[in-house]
Amino acid sequence: MSFTLHGQGVSGGIAIGRAMLMSHATLEVAHLTIPPRMVDKEIARFEAAVATVKRELEAMKASSAGHAPAELGAFIDIHTMFLEDPELADKPREIIRERRCNAEWALVQQMEHLVEQFEQFDDPYLRERKFDVVQVVERVVKELLGHAGRSLLKAAKGAKEEALIVVAHDLSPADTIAFKEQRFASFITDVGGATSHTAILARSMAIPSVVGLENARALIRDGEQLIIDGTRGIVIVNPDLRILEEYQLRKNQIELEKSKLKRLKTARSETIDGIAVQLHANIELPGDVPEALEAGAEGIGLFRTEFLFLDRGDMPDEQEQYEAYKKVVKGMGGRPVTIRTFDLGNDKDLHPDGLANDRVKTNPALGRRAIRLSLAEPQMFQTQLRAILRASKHGPIKLLIPMLAHAHEIDQTLAALEQAKSSLRGEKVAFDENIQVGGMIEIPAAALAVGLFLRRLDFLSIGTNDLIQYTLAIDRSDEQVANLYDPLHPAVLMLIAHTLASAEKQGIPVSLCGEMAGDPKLTRLLLGMGLRIFSMHPSQILEVKHRVLKADVSDLAPTVRRLLRLDEPAKLQEALEKLNA
Ligand code: PEP
Ligand code: MG
Repeated sequence: MSFTLHGQGVSGGIAIGRAMLMSHATLEVAHLTIPPRMVDKEIARFEAAVATVKRELEAMKASSAGHAPAELGAFIDIHTMFLEDPELADKPREIIRERRCNAEWALVQQMEHLVEQFEQFDDPYLRERKFDVVQVVERVVKELLGHAGRSLLKAAKGAKEEALIVVAHDLSPADTIAFKEQRFASFITDVGGATSHTAILARSMAIPSVVGLENARALIRDGEQLIIDGTRGIVIVNPDLRILEEYQLRKNQIELEKSKLKRLKTARSETIDGIAVQLHANIELPGDVPEALEAGAEGIGLFRTEFLFLDRGDMPDEQEQYEAYKKVVKGMGGRPVTIRTFDLGNDKDLHPDGLANDRVKTNPALGRRAIRLSLAEPQMFQTQLRAILRASKHGPIKLLIPMLAHAHEIDQTLAALEQAKSSLRGEKVAFDENIQVGGMIEIPAAALAVGLFLRRLDFLSIGTNDLIQYTLAIDRSDEQVANLYDPLHPAVLMLIAHTLASAEKQGIPVSLCGEMAGDPKLTRLLLGMGLRIFSMHPSQILEVKHRVLKADVSDLAPTVRRLLRLDEPAKLQEALEKLNA
């Protein structure tokens, strides 16, 4: 029987293949009482399983280094951390001894206890970590049950030619590494939203994905044929021949277009009427540089430095930071690299023992985050500024400051930079004396009072991810309000337009480095608004370049001016569709 499920498409494209169910039945373990003489043996069995899973995670981390999405390493670190925590490493041992449970049952009892505790947290990020606990426990239970968490891979190896689509209730980052190696065609899950781990990873691996399907796992059976439309968030189960042919055709077209896009890598990024448009890459780790170059990025428009150091428990010293920045700037071979100072303190925080953690309050996005935290921790800030300055002797580096809202924050930042420069001068250490300093425009106040920024800084970068969050009062990591997160809200467009127009008058360059820059549906709109520097995930660059090459700004600008006067969402949407037609 054919039927269709609807969820949230989080990574575009079409996949056609056979369903491969990922089992969670492993958590429904047998409840056994073991005789006293078997207790030590049972504990040893538990310890061996934990050790194996730890080794598996280490091996995954090592094999993914350099080519996997930056977030993946951080996720694996979280899982390793849980595995080493006494709550999971020791407590089940006590349960086995005291209640004489079998290892699987002891572990699942402790997991349920921990999940309950995580559910009490007010902070949504911490609350979500309960999924990490479940995923780690599931790996250990699988190991105890004797199918070492690799059954999925073995099955995949057997089914060489046929595309496989993973159907899961939820996925762990460790699972997705296996996907990378095996080239699964797609994955779909019951839970998750646009900012879930699955979604982030699917997008960075550029494979179609739909999440939030609620009961796909229960309704779909192993081996059934599926069509995944990641753009529209649709899953068609057992499609009839006509639908199948239709989607096959669309899939072929998409693939053809993708391979054609590769030819654009070396093409000059310029509109029909000869306007140069710079396309830069956003990166999280030095290991992302090859992908940026492969996509033909003209530079790094945003290096999110905080990702280098998440979940490690301590702050990196100056030398370690210097090495990381140097690696990026050398890797980019003379192309400009924009390094953003730490944006810590919101959803991106250090390990529980780290510097920023005690500052996370009930409303972290409005708290001591990013530049606010850096200014409050002068030593940490000086260390980073000195490391960036030292790296600037190896190639063109620009310094970018996140979350600025006040003139005095800019003044304090510039004074801190001067202090770092003068300490290096005193030590006769070389650096770029004229390093450019820019500010992120990601708070509505900054966009409205942009004059303060233009007078003090060399360039601006619009961070729409946060600008939308703060303008619309939507927590960007809360899937319950994800439907209200709207880049096309007239207020958001007004703030972007105002920033671009004001900067142009002063001759100050502005880039846009939020997710909007990488959405090809918005390329023509942003070009018409006057944007000339886009920075995005490397996998989006060629598609956006394609749009740039076909655009004629002299045509677009007047149409976009009219579009921006519309404040009825339906009319705005209609005008945007016409603009892209
Ligand atoms: C943004 O806010 O748009 C941005 C690019 O920064 P981040 O996503 O790291 O907050
Ligand atoms: Mg931001």
